[in-house]
Amino acid sequence: MAVAETGVAEVLCDGRFDTMMARVARFHDKHAFADNNGHDMGYRLALTIEELGELAAAVTKGKPKEDLEEELADVLILILGHALAMEVDLEKAFHTKLDRVMQRPSITGRLGIRVTEYSEN
Ligand SMILES: [Mg+2]
Repeated sequence: MAVAETGVAEVLCDGRFDTMMARVARFHDKHAFADNNGHDMGYRLALTIEELGELAAAVTKGKPKEDLEEELADVLILILGHALAMEVDLEKAFHTKLDRVMQRPSITGRLGIRVTEYSEN
């Protein structure tokens, strides 16, 4: 890609999963994540919990939509990075899993609707 890595959000909103993955891969390469424990899933999961906390705080504190978008993007960037760290095809796994989830019934519990492989036990 012949464009700079900043200020290209509008150009790169092409609806393609591989564009997003490629940008996250460049981010990981830029900072040599793989050589600096940046692909350790224990560490990465801790970072994810940290970012989920920031997202939760933005929701519960009624922050502006822009703040929610930023925190949600932080979580997504981390998750896409997990796919790199774990060397999994996340796009394929996503569609495979969603195919299975779409076959499941939903249940509504005390806290709301849920779609899961549910058993009474
Ligand atoms: Mg954040």
